[in-house]
Amino acid sequence: MVRVLLLGGTAEARELAGAFAAAGFEVVESVAGRTRQARGGSASLVGGFGGVDGLAQYLRTAGVGAVVDATHPFAARMTGNAAQACALTGVPLLRFARTGWRTHPDASDWVWVGDHSQAAVAAGRAGGRVLLTVGRQPLPAYRELTDVVARVAEWQGDPVPQGWLIVEARGPFTLAGELALLGREQVAVLVSKDSGGALTAAKLDAARELGVRVIMVRRPAAPDGVPEVGSTADAVAWLAGLG
Ligand code: NAP
Repeated sequence: MVRVLLLGGTAEARELAGAFAAAGFEVVESVAGRTRQARGGSASLVGGFGGVDGLAQYLRTAGVGAVVDATHPFAARMTGNAAQACALTGVPLLRFARTGWRTHPDASDWVWVGDHSQAAVAAGRAGGRVLLTVGRQPLPAYRELTDVVARVAEWQGDPVPQGWLIVEARGPFTLAGELALLGREQVAVLVSKDSGGALTAAKLDAARELGVRVIMVRRPAAPDGVPEVGSTADAVAWLAGLG
């Protein structure tokens, strides 16, 4: 039976784990363990591998026959480490990435930026109250903004910058809920990463309805030469094709 290392931390990874097991593969799911939910979830490995060398060492010693990287589109370090470690060890690697919002009907109305520093500048220029939906880690890039609502899955006791309201909430989010948040907080500008998928897309429709400007951070580049799929069925087919 092929042992698959599934790099997770996303809703899609949990779905893939079930599908791989149902198709007869032995799945070892790993998460970084940054949130209580991840630490208390079903993953069998919690915490990192120790960079490229640590992952390569794990692949050599744990009898891993394939790696499926289903980390978040913005977890670029893990994705890069997986590409390097698999190249070093010859273990086949598949990238699973949900479809981004480039194809969203409103995408051409948004301001697309390359990183969080650029997003912070664009948000400051736009003026008005800013809703940040970029997760917790990038927030320091926005510290010059003074009228901010930051929505995060978990706030971990860090001091709250002056003029900021922290809203702890975990998706999926509904259109009604997003309309209520944007209206109640009088949001003028929404900042988002191009995370893609349906679970957190309602904010984009709510922004259009209320005339809220959208600033979208582009995805980091994918490593060269790694095959990529966007559906569970294609991921199962790739594993089956390894023989
Ligand atoms: P990152 O910057 O790419 O990774 C930082 C380090 O965390 C990696 O070098 C690795 O440590 C460890 N790590 C990350 N994913 C791991 C996994 N699935 N299994 C084992 N170790 C992992 O990642 P991040 O942006 O901090 O995200 C951390 C996790 O949260 C990811 O698994 C991602 O899927 C999930 N997540 C991220 C976002 C986001 O917006 N970035 C959103 C939702 C969920 P070592 O070098 O020690 O191996």
